[in-house]
Amino acid sequence: MKPFGYVRPASTDEAVRLCAAGPGARFLGGGTNLVDLMKLGVEAPRVLIDVAGLPLDRVTRTAEGGLSIGATVRNSDLAAHPDVTRSYPVLSQALLAGASGPVSYTHL
Ligand SMILES: Cc1cc2nc3c(=O)[nH]c(=O)nc-3n(C[C@H](O)[C@H](O)[C@H](O)COP(=O)(O)OP(=O)(O)OC[C@H]3O[C@@H](n4cnc5c(N)ncnc54)[C@H](O)[C@@H]3O)c2cc1C
Repeated sequence: MKPFGYVRPASTDEAVRLCAAGPGARFLGGGTNLVDLMKLGVEAPRVLIDVAGLPLDRVTRTAEGGLSIGATVRNSDLAAHPDVTRSYPVLSQALLAGASGPVSYTHL
């Protein structure tokens, strides 16, 4: 694995600014895919911008009647969200169908 930088932005604006500052920046969530790809040499980011601590884990109704899904909402939380199970049941089913057991049932 090549050396890389790591930052934890204090806000979404800062995360976007850091990402736009130059090539080779990648957002880091849980690292499940990205870190594996880095170990294999498929990805070699200059800097990882850790967005896991940002307050982006909300699912909210929009004024137009849709849903706004935060960038760090967990699949299991989204699948179980009352607005999703009530208004978007196919989305809930698709999330659960694509997940392995531990992912599917952690919060259900
Ligand atoms: C062993 C294994 C088992 C898996 N099992 C399942 C499974 O059962 N079900 C399933 O659905 N998936 C599964 N996956 C896939 C994996 O969980 C998903 O791809 C998941 O989205 C990775 O989330 P992460 O937060 O770890 O992403 P990361 O690895 O941190 O990032 C993946 C990519 O998304 C980008 N990214 C991350 N966060 C953001 C953000 N907030 N905004 C914009 N870009 C972002 C990163 O820059 C990177 O390019 C599995 C993967 C592995 C390696």
